[in-house]
Amino acid sequence: MSPRVAAPERPSVPLPIRLGVSSCLLGQEVRYDGGHKRDRYLTDDLADYFEWVPVCPELEAGMGVPRPALRLQSGSGEVRLVEIKSGADRTDELERFSAKRVRALRGLSLCGYLLKKDSPSCGWTRVKVWNPKGMAERKGQGLFARALCEAFPGLPVEEEGRLRDAALRENFIERVFAYARLKQLFTGRWTAGRVVAFHTAHKLQLMAHSPAAYRTLGALVAEVAKTSRAEFRDQYEHLFMEALEKRATRGRNANVLNHCAGYFKKRIDPDARAELADLVEEYRQGFVPLVVPITLIRHHARMHDTAYLAGQTYLEPHPKELMLRNHV
Ligand code: SF4
Repeated sequence: MSPRVAAPERPSVPLPIRLGVSSCLLGQEVRYDGGHKRDRYLTDDLADYFEWVPVCPELEAGMGVPRPALRLQSGSGEVRLVEIKSGADRTDELERFSAKRVRALRGLSLCGYLLKKDSPSCGWTRVKVWNPKGMAERKGQGLFARALCEAFPGLPVEEEGRLRDAALRENFIERVFAYARLKQLFTGRWTAGRVVAFHTAHKLQLMAHSPAAYRTLGALVAEVAKTSRAEFRDQYEHLFMEALEKRATRGRNANVLNHCAGYFKKRIDPDARAELADLVEEYRQGFVPLVVPITLIRHHARMHDTAYLAGQTYLEPHPKELMLRNHV
């Protein structure tokens, strides 16, 4: 048996990671009717990993609790935020508040944001917009959510409702941890060498999402010394985060897993090779979740001299205790 070797350090980030959140999701009684929408996945399951920065745009804009319920209303070619009963237009004050609040959030190094779905202020996507005939279409975005996304284009953003989908949940948390590592890379006086090491460590993770984006990013990294620092950082961040938003399909993951298996070809016996190949195929066909072949690969990477592989973020893009890969 090959000797057990020490694995090189994978890029990691100190915990907890700071995320913005709609205050009502933490159980704060800030809704228009004095209620809340506590989400226990956030307050319990994620509590050890994330530090929450709560924002209730409507309350903090001075609308009080209780307050008249609001909705998005179309008319005259624009969408306005209005009180449902009186029709009073609250757009300007919420837009003013949002611009100010997102400026204040800049100093907090947020690595993600969780928004309350369906809210005309916080909803990120498919918020109801009512037309003058009283019909609603799910095509709007909350006013605060819009200001947030414009101010932080690379920031991982999700709605709590979508976290019930295992694939979306895994992808969001994967992006949060990746964004935190990226911010850590670009903090202070970063070097070309650190960029290359970061990019190398994320190779398999990027390949699982988008081999094309990995190649584009590689070409960018090759030019790092010839590009202005600010331009390089902005381009790399944009393309890196855009790549991770693409779905890591079973097919692409299976390709990456087979690539990993190639590192053990000469190091493990034929039975162990066959066992690994079978597990990857079972994963590709949907019989077992991703955690199954990954666990075996991590085991082999620990036991054998595969320093490059052991340093890949793909093997542990987020804490295994969150069990996110048990369901995808
Ligand atoms: Fe406040 Fe947003 Fe929650 Fe509404 S959805 S109560 S505006 S935090």
